[in-house]
Amino acid sequence: MEFVSDNLNVNEKGNLTIGGTDTVELAAKYGTPLYVMDEQTVRTNCRRFNDSIKKFYGDMGRVHYASKALSCMEMCRIVGSEGLGLDAVSIGELYTAVKAGFDPAKIGFHGNNKTNEELSYAVEIGVGHIIVDNISELHRLEKIAEEQGKKPHIMFRIKPGIDAHTHDFVKTGQIDSKFGFALETGEAFEAVKEAVACKNVELYGVHCHIGSQIFDIAPFEEAAKVMLTFIAKIKNELDYEIKGLNLGGGFGIKYLNEHDPQPFEVFMERVAKVVAEQCGALNISRPFIYIEPGRSIAAPAGITLYTVGARKEIPNIRTYISIDGSMADSPRYILYGSEYEAVVANKANEERTERVTIAGKCCESGDLIGENMPLQHAEAGDIIAVCATGAYNYSMSSNYNRLQKPAVVFVNNGESRIAVKRETLDDIIRNDV
Ligand SMILES: *Cc1c(COP(=O)(O)O)cnc(C)c1O
Repeated sequence: MEFVSDNLNVNEKGNLTIGGTDTVELAAKYGTPLYVMDEQTVRTNCRRFNDSIKKFYGDMGRVHYASKALSCMEMCRIVGSEGLGLDAVSIGELYTAVKAGFDPAKIGFHGNNKTNEELSYAVEIGVGHIIVDNISELHRLEKIAEEQGKKPHIMFRIKPGIDAHTHDFVKTGQIDSKFGFALETGEAFEAVKEAVACKNVELYGVHCHIGSQIFDIAPFEEAAKVMLTFIAKIKNELDYEIKGLNLGGGFGIKYLNEHDPQPFEVFMERVAKVVAEQCGALNISRPFIYIEPGRSIAAPAGITLYTVGARKEIPNIRTYISIDGSMADSPRYILYGSEYEAVVANKANEERTERVTIAGKCCESGDLIGENMPLQHAEAGDIIAVCATGAYNYSMSSNYNRLQKPAVVFVNNGESRIAVKRETLDDIIRNDV
């Protein structure tokens, strides 16, 4: 049996394992729904990114884990111990990292509408960079920095005008995005002029992030070229050196067997080559490079376990398999129509002979895990594993229908431990008065 993630296997009992741990036993021990993360896969993914950036770009690069993919203290501790930096997009993600003991100097703080409270906190704890999104934020940050007597390092979020969401990427003349400064209107350059003259912030770098779940490398190469051209323009016209270039995240992963992401090495090799060539052609120094993978570190490491409650066969139409989870813990189907691979964990060595719709328990017809999914014959009491759910599942979960958020358990070489406790009924009413 082949699975989308290579940490999944079948043991002698015919049960699905993750990182060598029996998932049916995990379901019995911790209950379902349950998020399970394989620590070794997280670590391996961190090392793949780290090693490739070193191999192709030397000591001039750093990997920041985009914590919005899965933010909890244990995840911060693991990626921190692998030497990665971190991206945060809210005061909540910053606070989680700080409480986990993450070095603030290795944190980049993002967001298209940071509040003054968030900016003050970021300056106070001394984050490495604040990635400024718009001119009003720059002005507010200057004031906050002055009040605190600090000079934070900033990067500007730039819209490079690359549309990577389509398979054939196209350069858009006019970019429609809520994130960042536009290049072609001159907005970005004006902001740079202002920041360069600014006493209370230090303009360190420029940043772009072209999208998510991208399989093509070409749009990243194109974005790097556009950004380096902008860095050269700043040098030539303002005699100011931009030292850092952040190329964002968005590397695609395998959710289904037909997905075929390129190894990260290949990405880094090609992008590093483009950067070196462009810097030579433009006569600028090679910038320090940052990349920000989120999904590609967390997603393949995780699965979600559910218990089947009911099987409903509608002749000639479809079979519904109802599970004890929902869009509240797995929101990507209802948000984007995302697809996953599923396995009946206690029948993992059997063939997938059926096509079913896996349905959640929320009061929404769209509350599905997926439609037309190949699956082993599933009945009440079976355990279903949905694969590659380590990113954007727990982090996007809600309490819709007042459902309690599942626990997050990490497995490591046959051992398991709770990283986030399952919510209790009292947690559900904790803030009610
Ligand atoms: C979401 C995001 C990322 C990570 O994207 P993935 O697709 O999870 O790799 C990186 N940088 C920024 C600015 C983001 O908004």
